[in-house]
Amino acid sequence: MSVRISLTLWYTFLLGAILLSFSILLYLMLVLVLYQQVDQSLQERAQQIGNRIETETTFRLNEEQGGEVVLPPLDVFSTSAIFVQVINAEGKLIESTNNLGGHRLADDVDINAINETGQATFTTVTIENARIRVYTAPIVVGPPIQVLGAVQVGQSLQFIDMMLRMVLFFLTGGTIIALVVAALIGAFLARKALTPIDRINQTAAQIVSGQDLKQRLATPPTNDEISRLTTTINDMLARLDNFFQAQVRLSADVSHELRTPLTTIRGNIDLLRSGAANDPQELDEALTVIDGELDRMSRIVTDLLLLSQADAGISLRLEPVELDTIVLDVYRQARVIANGINIQLGHEDQAMVEGDADRLKQLLINLVTNAIKHTAEGGRITLSLYRDHDWVRVTVEDTGRGIAPTALPHIFERFYRADEAAGQKGTGLGLSIAQWIAQAHGGQITVESQLGQGSTFTLWLPNKLERKRKTTPVEILAVQD
Ligand code: ADP
Repeated sequence: MSVRISLTLWYTFLLGAILLSFSILLYLMLVLVLYQQVDQSLQERAQQIGNRIETETTFRLNEEQGGEVVLPPLDVFSTSAIFVQVINAEGKLIESTNNLGGHRLADDVDINAINETGQATFTTVTIENARIRVYTAPIVVGPPIQVLGAVQVGQSLQFIDMMLRMVLFFLTGGTIIALVVAALIGAFLARKALTPIDRINQTAAQIVSGQDLKQRLATPPTNDEISRLTTTINDMLARLDNFFQAQVRLSADVSHELRTPLTTIRGNIDLLRSGAANDPQELDEALTVIDGELDRMSRIVTDLLLLSQADAGISLRLEPVELDTIVLDVYRQARVIANGINIQLGHEDQAMVEGDADRLKQLLINLVTNAIKHTAEGGRITLSLYRDHDWVRVTVEDTGRGIAPTALPHIFERFYRADEAAGQKGTGLGLSIAQWIAQAHGGQITVESQLGQGSTFTLWLPNKLERKRKTTPVEILAVQD
């Protein structure tokens, strides 16, 4: 069952239940109150008449010692709607009001029961199709107690019955009309509310069938649940699209990266097969090339493995680490591969951070190797360590050739190489790995660079000695600017 139909049905059902309970309650209350009122007024009237009869009869009884019932003129008590009759102890009619027109009220009243119990009773009789409520009250004199007969007072229920029938008719009719109108309005409202969802559904189905993750849902200008849902789905599509693009790019890049060394290795093997193997020098050259390419391939594969672990969300084991010791280690290692570049230590604070010592070292070595790669002989690379209130920073500053502003936003992307044309032999994965390590430590790497002047890479790590960080690396950069 569609949401639209079930919403409408629920809405109508609930309204129906409320209206029905309300109508039943109202009707029952009316019945109770109206009939009770009739009974009460009959009782009062009977009381009045009974009292008069009893007083007059007792008076006479005392005087004459006779047994007959003495009646006041009954028509004094009746109105056009009230009928009165008096019966004796045998049930025989003694007197009745004129408005009864010869009819008798409650023929079937068991006078014996009245004699025995002396209790008044209510009955409802039908005379000429009109229901009449009759109250029978015994006439008692004494002492000694003697039931002389009964006064019967009746009132037609015709008007009340008709009124109740009308109320019932209006309540039933009103409930049915209200339910039909409610169902129509409910269906209309549900349709109106769900149409945007239908539209979202259709577009989403189109996106799935067309496999076009670039397509977006039209966001309604309202700020309601639907527009928020659309925005969320659009964000999700954008992320999926990015992820999908990245996957496509990555597999293209990986195949490209691995094809080059494979082609070179195949070329050298062909060369060896065609006779170069007989010449020791050519053999040595070919093997060196093959060795180098295999090295490169295994580096790419190791890096990719590491990045795929990062993608899988593997977290690092963080322990307290002396960062200044790591910086010193990296400095020593850098001096070995310095290639005629002046490597020096700058500002050196002492700092403990929560981290993975091996990964942090790998990160700094990546930064320093890059700096060495892009700095000419005679240049200078400075390693510094600063401990601020919120952050511990390691900077690797070089006087190399710098990075073009157009390349700067991309250097942390996988397989991105700003200087491919320059024939550099990097894999383009070093900085993405470094950035991942920094982020896994709750920090990040930022870069400032001037083409032809040099670059400064800064690793930001949270200063765990301080309780709480109040700024972000970017904010600090802005303050420094
Ligand atoms: P690669 O293996 O190519 O070095 P990276 O991810 O480490 O890959 O670096 C990406 C690109 O960033 C490099 O190709 C290079 O152009 C640029 N780059 C990185 N570090 C420096 C630096 N210190 N000076 C100039 N360019 C740099």
